[in-house]
Amino acid sequence: MNIHEYQAKALLRDHGAPVSDGRAVLRAEEAKMAAGALEGPIWVVKAQIHAGGRGKGHFAEGDAGAGGGVRLARSVEEAEAEVKRMLGRTLVTRQTGPAGKQVNRIYIEDGSDIARELYLALLVDRASSRVSFVASTEGGMDIEEVAATTPERIVSFAVDPATGYQGFHGRRIAFALGLEGRQVKQCVALMGALYRLFVAKDMEMLEINPLIVTPGGELKCLDAKMGFDSNALYRHPDILALRDETEEDPKELAASQHDLNYIALDGEIGCMVNGAGLAMATMDIIKLYGSEPANFLDVGGGATKEKVTEAFKIITSDPNVKGILINIFGGIMRCDIIAEGVVEAVTEVGLEVPLVVRLEGTNVEKGKEIIEASGLNVIAADDLSDAAEKIVKAVNG
Ligand code: GDP
Ligand code: MG
Repeated sequence: MNIHEYQAKALLRDHGAPVSDGRAVLRAEEAKMAAGALEGPIWVVKAQIHAGGRGKGHFAEGDAGAGGGVRLARSVEEAEAEVKRMLGRTLVTRQTGPAGKQVNRIYIEDGSDIARELYLALLVDRASSRVSFVASTEGGMDIEEVAATTPERIVSFAVDPATGYQGFHGRRIAFALGLEGRQVKQCVALMGALYRLFVAKDMEMLEINPLIVTPGGELKCLDAKMGFDSNALYRHPDILALRDETEEDPKELAASQHDLNYIALDGEIGCMVNGAGLAMATMDIIKLYGSEPANFLDVGGGATKEKVTEAFKIITSDPNVKGILINIFGGIMRCDIIAEGVVEAVTEVGLEVPLVVRLEGTNVEKGKEIIEASGLNVIAADDLSDAAEKIVKAVNG
């Protein structure tokens, strides 16, 4: 789960990391008061969406919304005008995809003078199973781009969980970033605060881009992106309370409400499978036959008819889906339950694309009977290859 920049900055502030003073607003009428409560004389008005690249983004509405999602203002009135310009509009950035994201919240912050822009991130490195620091002198840029063009400007290392964060970790980053004098000490303290916060809150990712050095030589977190391990959120009701469901894919949101393992993808073949391994194999074989999966969906072992119905509805609500492949290997999951769920869902929401069903395992005969008796227009398949071949053929005509 991700949170907004202003929420992340509040967490940082609470844990001793240097950030500017700021106010979040949800309505244009609040803008004047929020900006007025800050010091000035420069304000930064920042669109709050769960995506980066806002500064270089643009608004989908064209002229009225020209300019990016991070703007400097030189008076309270200018700040208010920027809020009005951004609220309700659709911001398109490199990370949102062409559809963009609607801006429903704005953060107004005291503007900072910048001497240097640096990059800093913490993440869980799956290869070493450890929390890793990533630092670079190239702040304010896409780190992917830095990694591709000037990888020598990135320093990355893991922290041994047995020792935890140590001063030498912070000094290593400070020297890599070319910090000097008391900035080194400040860096050591800041990195320690970030590491402890990261571990305490079960984060997956924490990115400060840019981490700046002010002309006065102080470090400050100018941007903040935080992602949390969804499986650990039950331990953090304070973090869960920051969830903004309007930022999430509506299909993934519906799936999480029904306890389905669903991830939306860009392809055209909707998949309903039981078991994560089989779901991966199904996606692979769809690709092998020349098409692309529209989603990953594991209905799980002990799914009920209702859960299967919901899963089917989520798949059919995706306009990219040109065909559906149901691939069930009934072990704990019974094929007749799947069949009942599919029939129920189709009766409710209809079926406008080809549907291939491959059932195998527990109660397979009963499952096939249910589908046959329903009169649904289903293409039956015998095995995984057969199923993938049939659905790709049906979609491509
Ligand atoms: P992002 O584009 O979504 O990553 O949003 P950022 O918060 O990183 O802002 C984009 C850029 O705006 C930063 O890299 C800075 O160059 C600039 N910026 C943000 N805040 C300030 C500020 O307080 N003062 C100045 N001068 N520039 C800022
Ligand atoms: Mg940034």
